[in-house]
Amino acid sequence: MLILISDAFDKTLPGLLAKYGEVTDDKSRQAEADVVLIRSKTKVTREYIDAAPRLKMVIRGGVGLDNVDQAYARDKGILVFNTADASTVAVAELAFAMMIALPNHTVAAHTSMAEGQWLKKELKRTELMGKTLGLLGIGRIGTALAVRAGAFGMKVIAYDPYVFFSDFAEIRPTMEEVIREADYISLHMPLLDSTRGLINKNTLKMFKDGAYLINTCRGKVVVEEDAVEALKSGKLAGYATDVWYSDPPENSPLIGAPNTLFAPHIGASTKENMLRIGIMINALIKEYKDKLK
Ligand code: NAD
Repeated sequence: MLILISDAFDKTLPGLLAKYGEVTDDKSRQAEADVVLIRSKTKVTREYIDAAPRLKMVIRGGVGLDNVDQAYARDKGILVFNTADASTVAVAELAFAMMIALPNHTVAAHTSMAEGQWLKKELKRTELMGKTLGLLGIGRIGTALAVRAGAFGMKVIAYDPYVFFSDFAEIRPTMEEVIREADYISLHMPLLDSTRGLINKNTLKMFKDGAYLINTCRGKVVVEEDAVEALKSGKLAGYATDVWYSDPPENSPLIGAPNTLFAPHIGASTKENMLRIGIMINALIKEYKDKLK
């Protein structure tokens, strides 16, 4: 069996998988691969699958499977898995870090001082305690963020078309009700046809004036140009995003927009998560190894 590690994983992974066969990160061996391990960079398109005739299993280390043509893989009898449970805490902690950093002007405070300025009067902070966090999507990551926000004394409300009850948030029946009421909106839905461009100039109009938006789900859920307009007008007091139209972003209008906080798609990139992902990949290959020969 040839296992192709196509994206970045923990350095212990090749050793962990060596018992199943040959493990390589040489992408030119795609045609020989029985198993391909990806994160978000490799796109397992129809063309990719056609160029890998031995392929029997694709494992996406992480959650979103929007970089895999799942229907075509199914037609070809290729098993597709993610390691969905592994990344929850890593992403929730980044979303929370962003939610703390925006109203505390953490980045502006640091960069202005590093440039020799003293903005004590200008940098007015606000507190999270008593504010309302609105979650769009309350699955694994949304729930983990709700738990953390509750500990900070925030009121948590959420909309999710498939969730009707939560111990950690008040569920609202529509997205509109959440975005009209929340001081902070955090996005935790998958990228689907129904969620692409969901945050746009029409939905942004319904946000509270001066709301904060945090995006650790997928860049294309937000129309970047519309977010920039909302930042310039003050409708949005801040926009923090870990996710982009492409990795890295090309000509994004967000770069240079006011009151932003950026990360280079590092939501899942904790040391602990990389180890958890390795354990889950090992378990999946072990479970299906007879089908992979
Ligand atoms: P999950 O499947 O547990 O939860 C997603 C929730 O979104 C589900 O409950 C679903 O019902 C809901 N949903 C679907 N359509 C919706 C809509 N229109 N409005 C509101 N909610 C909707 O997934 P998760 O583990 O919580 O991950 C959520 C997303 O986070 C992933 O799909 C992925 O895109 C993203 N993610 C990003 C990173 C990163 O590095 N930044 C890492 C992992 C996951």
